[in-house]
Amino acid sequence: MRVYLRALGCKLNQSEVESWARRLAAAGCEIVESSANADLCILNTCTVTHVASRKSRQMVRRCARGNPQAPIVVTGCFAEIHPGQAARLPGVSLVLGTADKERLVDNVAERLGFPVLSPRPEQHASIACLHTRAFVKIQDGCNNACTYCIVRVARGRQRSRPMRAILDEILARQSEGYQEIVLSGVHIGAYGRERDETLPDLVRKILQHTRFSRLRLSSIEPWDLAPDLLRLWENRRLCRHLHLPLQSGCDATLKRMNRRYTTAQFSELVRNARAAIPDLAVTTDVIVGFPGEDKQEFAASADFVASMDFARIHVFPFSARPGTEAAAMPQQIAPPTKKQRGKRMAGIARQSSEAFRRRFLGRMMDVLWESGKADQWSGLTDNYIRVAVTHTEPLRNRILPARLLELTTYGVRGELASSRTTAEQADGPVNSI
Ligand code: SF4
Repeated sequence: MRVYLRALGCKLNQSEVESWARRLAAAGCEIVESSANADLCILNTCTVTHVASRKSRQMVRRCARGNPQAPIVVTGCFAEIHPGQAARLPGVSLVLGTADKERLVDNVAERLGFPVLSPRPEQHASIACLHTRAFVKIQDGCNNACTYCIVRVARGRQRSRPMRAILDEILARQSEGYQEIVLSGVHIGAYGRERDETLPDLVRKILQHTRFSRLRLSSIEPWDLAPDLLRLWENRRLCRHLHLPLQSGCDATLKRMNRRYTTAQFSELVRNARAAIPDLAVTTDVIVGFPGEDKQEFAASADFVASMDFARIHVFPFSARPGTEAAAMPQQIAPPTKKQRGKRMAGIARQSSEAFRRRFLGRMMDVLWESGKADQWSGLTDNYIRVAVTHTEPLRNRILPARLLELTTYGVRGELASSRTTAEQADGPVNSI
């Protein structure tokens, strides 16, 4: 059976799709790159903003248009929060909520009457939709109560995967030749709290029992940035990148959002992190136009964001999600004002990102090369700078140094400094994935 899988939204959705793809491939399914060639489509949706919901609906419609014969399975946060809407979309045969994700492949097989998909471990899963970086889910759900957040509603309370299962999954990715593992979840800083374990315990264990080159943490809440966690970066395999969602640079707005820090605390956390991790990239998310954000609050937020030297900022106009506290708050901001504030914040984001990347021009940085068309290759430094080079030989999944030469719109153009890693010079090429 040929299966098409796609995820929208967060890295967690992506990591889920990748694990279903592996499970399906191990059971003998072919994972295809286009829905037009598929016997079955599985779509992992998002509803974090109204735009994400719209994109989720569009993704389903596109699939149905491209291949009206293939049954479509819709899961993810959009399906969880709006199951009726999801079921009415064209081509949809099955809607599965977030609780069904754990056993998604079995659920699909049982409910759509496909033959039982038993794993064939000897079969190598060659899966074109996978990234060069392996996203590994370590926990799901969140016990916080940020007033704008639909994710905690859709994904439920925090639950962590056992350390042993995470380690086994990472060892499997390592044996497939992955060079970078990204630990993903909704609230990864809360990892293991249900049973007295911590994220630092998990990271230490992973570093101790594995040998792949890079370990990256996905988004982590600022209040989880404890000294115990920062000490882990003494190990150079941890990527010098922290995504700390700020959400607003105004204390009054943060309070209405029910975030657990003030701007002064956030700023101190970042200062400590930068002191502990030289050349750290701090990236963030900022919401503009939160209910009650008047001119002064927005100005305070913009000034604070501009002062933080973020390496990258994702700007979101506030999107009222039905079922959240913020959706029912008074003083909702008019769409044109949100748009205008979004533009102003995006301008700050551009300047900040440019200033960060400029600091590294002229330097030699190791890059994990990911994708290339013809002789154009692109990859990421461990501190999340996207580098492009021209090179005629295949570079995918290799970590090779490049000299960073000039800024491009979103990254840096460079030149390859060597076409062989030190390990390759000794042992020959690494596995390709
Ligand atoms: S920490 Fe807040 S924003 Fe993040 S998932 Fe939990 S409730 Fe949502």
